[in-house]
Amino acid sequence: MKKSYNIAVLPGDGIGPEIVDAAVKVMTRVSEFTGVAFTYAYGRIGGCAIDEDGTPLPDETLRIAKEADAVLLGAVGGPKWDQNPGHLRPEAGLLGIRKELGLFANLRPATMHPSLVEASSLKPEVVAGVDLMVVRELTGGIYFGEKKRYTADGQEVAEDQLIYQEAEIERILRMAFEIARKRRKQLCSVDKANVLESSRLWRSVAERVAKDYPDVELTHMLVDACAMQLVRAPKQFDVIVTENMFGDILSDEAAMLTGSIGMLASASLAEGRFGLYEPVHGSAPDIAGQGVANPLATFLSVALMLRHSLAMDDAADALERAVWAVLEAGHRTADIAVDKSRAIGTAEMTEHVLAALSQQFTNAR
Ligand code: NAD
Repeated sequence: MKKSYNIAVLPGDGIGPEIVDAAVKVMTRVSEFTGVAFTYAYGRIGGCAIDEDGTPLPDETLRIAKEADAVLLGAVGGPKWDQNPGHLRPEAGLLGIRKELGLFANLRPATMHPSLVEASSLKPEVVAGVDLMVVRELTGGIYFGEKKRYTADGQEVAEDQLIYQEAEIERILRMAFEIARKRRKQLCSVDKANVLESSRLWRSVAERVAKDYPDVELTHMLVDACAMQLVRAPKQFDVIVTENMFGDILSDEAAMLTGSIGMLASASLAEGRFGLYEPVHGSAPDIAGQGVANPLATFLSVALMLRHSLAMDDAADALERAVWAVLEAGHRTADIAVDKSRAIGTAEMTEHVLAALSQQFTNAR
């Protein structure tokens, strides 16, 4: 394990700076207990960068990100920039940084904490115990294929090309197998092989790659069946791997099993260990500046960073356990509180997690 890491910190807009500040406190606590030093380089992205630099993704931000071992991002966007033209919208910064950093895999864990079961719209017996990960291919497929509009036989026609190369499929599958290997060793590859040629290639590559991972059980499922099974019996899944568009839809569906957007972490990974980590939620302009945002999704994103980019698995486990312990003890921000009158703010939640984290590290000694 390295003894120091450079972290690019891009707080962004709305509640971004609040939750990222809290997450840096958590990282600093990790550093104190592990002896691994973190240096933070701050950059602007999204709306704040449009205001200051005239672009949602300044060159300086890209430079900072490229020099870092990992990137921690808050959220971008807000009503102030909603009417801007496409290239001057905050989201253009996000798409730009994902592309520039070669982030080809998106990871979205969906873990149901027992004390939050009521927050799900599904029956408690269906969601209790859910612990799955969706691995989505992020830079290929129909979203990146050639798009055409033309008129033929007096009618308007639209075309979206869906192309996958073997190597693209293989690298995401290998990543998913590696992830499954660290979990319950079950990988479900999702496709539409009964209809799509690209899915038939996907399936054959999955079969070939599986030979290198005899310890992981590979199954295949059609995307329509998977969408159904996710709401019918989600506990059957450990790791799901799929192509870009299917993953876009399934990862949102899986995320909602756990009920609260304030709890959902994500990682976008490049070749090697580099990755960008961010909560799934947006900049929540409706609560920005009030000190009430739930920082847990960002803390859980830091746990993903510790595990996938910094090879600090023990610290990642400790942080996840600390978050669960705080929930177990009944602490809730407003978004996950049943009794809103007893909800705590970002700062208080952060203090509880810091204390629980110290406890986890002390117990481990
Ligand atoms: P949002 O996720 O920001 O908010 C949806 C609802 O969830 C709001 O009521 C908000 O208060 C609440 N919420 C979100 N995160 C929370 C947290 N951590 N704690 C407590 N409550 C939380 O989605 P939106 O309102 O559709 O979008 C707001 C802005 O964010 C838009 O400009 C949108 O484009 C942008 N956005 C950015 C990202 C990103 O940066 N990755 C993702 C989604 C939306």
